[in-house]
Amino acid sequence: MPLILIAEDEPAIADAVLYALRSEGLDAEHCLLGREIAPRVRQGGVDVVVLDVGLPDRSGFDVCRELRGFSEVPVIFLTARNDEIDRVLGLELGADDYMAKPFSPRELVARVRARLRRSQAGPADAKEQAQGDFELDREGHRIRFRGNALELTRYEYMLLAALLHRPGAILSRAQLMDRGWDSDADSADRTVDTHIKTLRAKLRAAGAENDPIRTHRGLGYALEI
Ligand code: CA
Repeated sequence: MPLILIAEDEPAIADAVLYALRSEGLDAEHCLLGREIAPRVRQGGVDVVVLDVGLPDRSGFDVCRELRGFSEVPVIFLTARNDEIDRVLGLELGADDYMAKPFSPRELVARVRARLRRSQAGPADAKEQAQGDFELDREGHRIRFRGNALELTRYEYMLLAALLHRPGAILSRAQLMDRGWDSDADSADRTVDTHIKTLRAKLRAAGAENDPIRTHRGLGYALEI
């Protein structure tokens, strides 16, 4: 599932955008501050960044410049003022698109999809991605293990896809939760643990001799492939 990172400090706008993206079957994460964005993109797995120009700690222009130092991830600016639009258009910031506020969240989703189509057409983003014994079919929402499709629930798929995004990296339960479903914080940890348990059973049944999902006490989970 493509992951969209939204940096926006106005809660009403952020909520509307998150809702629109998620209801269109896209995965979305939210940052409030400019300084959170580059570290998150470095972690990997982000397919498009939607970037408010006027963030509380630094400008979206600076953030975009920083991103372009190491990443080609598509960036769509959200601008509030005409002079900001002029800067987006006039400067060589490496932005891919922009939307002026107020905008329709649906229109933004359409723009995001257009960016995704373009990057998926490129050779760098293979539709099917092989990682060790695993093959991730993002479009079909399927994961194969040693050539056999795993019968996964939606949550199991999201968890395993998140772990496959960054093999070896320890993802906290909160990070794993963030990638897809809403549930209250109380039950969140247990929910992740429950789905990891069923996921392990399915991998065992598919022939995984050593459990590829490692538990890191107090930290989270990592996939060893
Ligand atoms: Ca703002």
